[in-house]
Amino acid sequence: MRYDDSPPPPESGSSADPDRHWFTRRSTLVVGIAALAPACLAGWVLTQTLSGAGPDASRSGPAAQPASHSSLAPGQRDAKPGSTPSTSPTTSPTTTAAAPAGPLTGKTVVVDPGHNTGNFKHTDEIDQQVDIGTNRKECDTTGTTTNSGYMEAEFTMDVSKRLRTALESQGAKVVLTHETGARAWGPCITERARIGNEANADAVVSVHADGVSAGNRGFHIILPAKVKSGAADTAKIVGPSRELGERIAGNFARTTGSAPANYLGGGTGLVVRDDLGGLNLSTRPKVFIECGNMRDAKDAAQLTSPEWRQKAAQGIADGIVGFLGG
Ligand code: ZN
Repeated sequence: MRYDDSPPPPESGSSADPDRHWFTRRSTLVVGIAALAPACLAGWVLTQTLSGAGPDASRSGPAAQPASHSSLAPGQRDAKPGSTPSTSPTTSPTTTAAAPAGPLTGKTVVVDPGHNTGNFKHTDEIDQQVDIGTNRKECDTTGTTTNSGYMEAEFTMDVSKRLRTALESQGAKVVLTHETGARAWGPCITERARIGNEANADAVVSVHADGVSAGNRGFHIILPAKVKSGAADTAKIVGPSRELGERIAGNFARTTGSAPANYLGGGTGLVVRDDLGGLNLSTRPKVFIECGNMRDAKDAAQLTSPEWRQKAAQGIADGIVGFLGG
């Protein structure tokens, strides 16, 4: 879920049909295939599948503005104001052994599993305030759950490990910001950003699932806004992060069959935010992905499926390969 649980306002309609030019250039084969896919996905899916190019159209589309706070869905709890803990567990990010040669050889990817299953038991610690440059906010949040209790933090760790495997098979060096059981809570969002920076990551992806009311479905990628305040200066990563996000969006749609979110992003699956420490403090190309809505039964059925999670991880990996020129 988003760290403050406040969905950005829905966008106005897209100013351009992302598929129009593409369709007019392609054969009836394209149209036939496109008919099988939701219209809003067709451009990305087919572009990625048939040409390997990024979804150009989404670059020119409008992006949602940063969120304002809104009511939480039942069971959501990302943060509460409160106490300041005095201790912080410290563990090193986990880096795996040498990877085989492949299109990502020489590349470093940092994968950030959102939240931590232990955060629920360490609310004082995760509620400590940290400086994100533009603001101060909670160190970390608990994340959401499905209605049956499957935790977002379980989901994010599972997808992240699958993603690591997929990336390593392409030759990448992969760093996870934390591992199952390696630490009781966190890391703080500031540390999550720092790990990517200090690794000189070529790409960073923070894996999440959303927790908004039922009926809201689909995935979206959160891109960093241009911010400059305190330790936050995203000017250099805004462009490449958008490219990374577009690549992931197209490939994620293709591998999972999921549609871009129907509740924000104007159907693009892309949202720009300036209120996330993990993005504000990053000096490396970075995006968040909200893979689906854990509070929607149909999305939850996918999110709780190991087979679907494998597709999700593959889609993210394919997007990273595309971004890094593999
Ligand atoms: Zn989350």
